[in-house]
Amino acid sequence: MPWSQQQAPQTADWVPPRQPACSCPEHVDDLTNLVVPVTDDGRLQTTYDAMTVEDLVDSGALSAKPTKADGRWLDTFDPQDGTFKQRIGPFHWALWIGDAARLCYDDDAAFSLDQALLASPGVQRVEWMDTEAFLIGAPTLCASGMMAAAARALADPRVRQR
Ligand SMILES: [Zn+2]
Repeated sequence: MPWSQQQAPQTADWVPPRQPACSCPEHVDDLTNLVVPVTDDGRLQTTYDAMTVEDLVDSGALSAKPTKADGRWLDTFDPQDGTFKQRIGPFHWALWIGDAARLCYDDDAAFSLDQALLASPGVQRVEWMDTEAFLIGAPTLCASGMMAAAARALADPRVRQR
């Protein structure tokens, strides 16, 4: 049976869980004072201070929005001939880790930010779409728990180590 008949109906009516019906081990309100260090690899002349999770949230650098029902699957195409290759998903959250958090992780880290996200409890699937945009498959997390998972991933020292 193709995926469309088997899986799509189950995900189309997904509704983001709310506390306390979610499975999140913690929420972003629990982590406001968690310090997220920044890398210091000489890329910038200016010295930046470490940020707290509260700084990241207040500046809009960390947010999570539920995906729309028609945006939960990602089609990949063969770049050679443009034919459909694979459909991946479902993704429940559009996670934004903005420019202000850019120094909190290293693109060349041995344990990359998407790997750190994938290691978070409740996260089943991570697709790094763009520098700042991620799609996350995590049906049992609420928005606050999704942001907490991202904060924990950013606070993981391995995402800054090459
Ligand atoms: Zn939650």
